[in-house]
Parts: sequence; C-alpha cells; structure tokens
Amino acid sequence: MSKLYDIIDFNHTFVQNKEFEKYRTTKFPDRKMVILTCMDTRLIELLPQAMGLKNGDVKIIKNAGAIVSHPFGSIMRSILVAIYELNAEEICVIGHHDCGMTGLHSSSMLDKIKDYGISQEHINILNHAGVDLGKWLTGFENVIEAVINSVKMIQNHPLLSKSIPVHGLIIHPETGKLDWVVNGYSHTQK
Ligand code: ZN
Repeated sequence: MSKLYDIIDFNHTFVQNKEFEKYRTTKFPDRKMVILTCMDTRLIELLPQAMGLKNGDVKIIKNAGAIVSHPFGSIMRSILVAIYELNAEEICVIGHHDCGMTGLHSSSMLDKIKDYGISQEHINILNHAGVDLGKWLTGFENVIEAVINSVKMIQNHPLLSKSIPVHGLIIHPETGKLDWVVNGYSHTQK
C-alpha cells in the first residue's frame, strides 16, 4: 500500500518543471460538449485521442459502464451542471465493447466483498433497510441497450431542455472506432 508515493514524487517534478503550462485552459468546454463514458483504463487516453479532443475541449464524466442509473443521482446532476452552468450544448453517452459491467452479477461481487471481511450480517442489514444490492451491483447484458437506456433517461429528464441533442455511441477499446447508436439531432426540438 505505497502506490501514491511514486505519484507524489512525480508530481513535485511536474510542477517544478512547469509541465502544466501546455494544459492551461478554462473550466468552460471549448467544443461545448459533455461526454459520459466508462472508467475503463483503456479509454483514459484513447477516447480523447480517437475523438480529436484536447484539454479544455469537453467535460468528461466517468463511471463504471457509462450508466445513468438514477434520474436524480450525481451523474445526471453533473450533466445538468455541464449544460446550464458550463455552457455545454450537446451530450454524448459513450459505452464500449468488452466493458467490465457486461455480465456483472451481484452474487460474484458480494462474494468478493465478503472475502474482504464484510460480514453477511452487514449485507443483510442493508437488504432489510431497503437497499436493493442485487440490482445495484448488477451490470448489463448488452452495452448497446445500456447506452440507449442511459440516453433515454437523459432525454426524458424533466430538467433537460428538448433543444439539447443527446447522442449514444459505442467506442472500440482497442481501435478507438466510434459507432453512432443514437443520433441526438433527430430527437431535438427547436
Ligand atoms: Zn467499461
């Protein structure tokens, strides 16, 4: 458990050498877009490079699977902040092939949680308190359907203007190829 020491050391040098200068920009996205995508490690650099995006171009929100699971959760709030406070004008949900959330089942994750020492008793308490762990810790079967579901949840949000296009795309985690699944321009109203 000493992974952060190397990072802190690197950071001192980075700042000292003023390597930050080439990344200077503002909090407002120059390309006026907000992207919700997956936290997958293969996408850290690949996704912006494959889309021709540089620092300052877009807002990027990440979670496991690029999923909007609740209309009033932190992902949807971030999207609304990007639109209304930071001047984004289009939304892209970008899932990817071979996602860790594909086929994820709560039972296998709960087994691993218990291996870390969390007791069944604690899990039972949460279940009795009305937390649906089975649903919450389960991913999706099909990434295309998952992207379409998230796009629909955003499009139908009562606080989102119908003039904002909400696109759905799938990116290939090796080649960076984008497939356009939902064309947000065909759903917008002026
Ligand atoms: Zn993923």
